[in-house]
Amino acid sequence: MNQKQCHILIAGAGIGGLALALALSRIGVYVEVLEQSHTLGEGGAGLQLSPNAYGILKDWGLDDKYDLTLSANFPVAIQARDAATNDVLSELQLGARAVNLYGAHYATMHRADLHKLLLNAVRKQPKLNIHRNAKVERAQDTATGVKVSTERDDLTYEADALVGCDGLWSFMREHVVGTDAPIATGHVAWRALLPFSMVPNDFRQDCVHAWMAPHMHIVAYPVRRGEFLNIVVVTEDDQPADTPSRQSWSRDATGLSPLDVKNNCQTFALNKKVIELLKTVNIGNGGGWTRWTLFDRAPISSSLDMYNPQHPRFALLGDAAHPMRPYLAQGAAMALEDAQALALAVQENWGDLPKAFQTYANRRWQRVAKVQVQSRRNGEIYHMQGMMRMARNVALRLAGPKLMEMPWLYQGPRI
Ligand SMILES: Cc1cc2nc3c(=O)[nH]c(=O)nc-3n(C[C@H](O)[C@H](O)[C@H](O)COP(=O)(O)OP(=O)(O)OC[C@H]3O[C@@H](n4cnc5c(N)ncnc54)[C@H](O)[C@@H]3O)c2cc1C
Repeated sequence: MNQKQCHILIAGAGIGGLALALALSRIGVYVEVLEQSHTLGEGGAGLQLSPNAYGILKDWGLDDKYDLTLSANFPVAIQARDAATNDVLSELQLGARAVNLYGAHYATMHRADLHKLLLNAVRKQPKLNIHRNAKVERAQDTATGVKVSTERDDLTYEADALVGCDGLWSFMREHVVGTDAPIATGHVAWRALLPFSMVPNDFRQDCVHAWMAPHMHIVAYPVRRGEFLNIVVVTEDDQPADTPSRQSWSRDATGLSPLDVKNNCQTFALNKKVIELLKTVNIGNGGGWTRWTLFDRAPISSSLDMYNPQHPRFALLGDAAHPMRPYLAQGAAMALEDAQALALAVQENWGDLPKAFQTYANRRWQRVAKVQVQSRRNGEIYHMQGMMRMARNVALRLAGPKLMEMPWLYQGPRI
């Protein structure tokens, strides 16, 4: 196989699918992306992009050529606070310090801006096509490649291989790994974008704020160069966990507020300034809340969750392979790292895609599993109560920056 003949299909044009499309086309692969939706885009909420993720976008030239620096925000610190008192327990300096330590910014962004940035870069690639209304429904191994059918009978595609970047409810995962439904975590994320002009003065710093309380936590940071404050409130509900299904994942919560949630019949004990911030979302142009039931899967335990040699021309990437709780803010970051690693493996094993996919999965699975485990653990730490909460607060006051610094994560996978 020469450079011109390598042809890879990607299922899904989310952040992971577009990142992979860009990474592969940059090394000369002919890429076709199949996206089920009619429109290409991302929902309205924010993302933190730690230096391991931002550095990849920078490597791909998105910082100067595609306005990454214009749409991203560069917070000066992460502040960990107790939500009952609003006291800052610890602060990790970011800004120039993060750049000096890790060679890249710690940024926050509107998801739609990151998606648009990737899409603009992808559209400039010469050997790349995106097909909308192309929901992958069947995938077959053939003697030399793959054959994929979509829900429209007239649309079938053949290529050398297919990578499933089709998210949490991945169809491709069923094909590669087998049927295993995502697990409802019992946690719910309430998300809002509050116009910055409405943000109470106390919270107008360019920071990632994280408030911890028994059974809940809140994270807030500016996006779109300070136009909005992105707020995520994660609660443990008294309600029975939603039935695991695609339909129940995200829903409009107009008129509702995380302040109405009760845990063990108690409302959350929050400082009045924090309550004021959350109440502002339900006022006038505050935008209201969207409610997401959070799902994950058990941390992956081998490369088989990303590549199965029984289907040697299929691989999985991003949430399709390793969905995680958002408490380390790494789901999209891991998808970007996957994309970079998969393209490198293809380049190193040009002409042998099964070997490339195996190399990719071998290199990635342990790091991704560690991030999945640490994300779950962070959720437990944030929601601690009683003596555990007091011990956590003391530890953060005494050794906070050391505990919050994660060089193993932020310096990237070092392949
Ligand atoms: C509350 C919350 C906060 C988060 N915060 C952060 C953060 O701060 N930082 C961070 O890095 N990550 C964060 N994440 C995680 C991040 O959002 C996800 O990990 C990331 O978006 C996954 O990208 P993906 O491309 O793998 O999947 P998705 O974004 O789900 O994209 C999948 C795409 O595939 C398409 N598709 C699905 N099925 C098919 C099919 N059969 N055929 C064709 N197309 C199909 C879908 O339409 C979609 O376009 C957060 C997640 C949540 C829930």
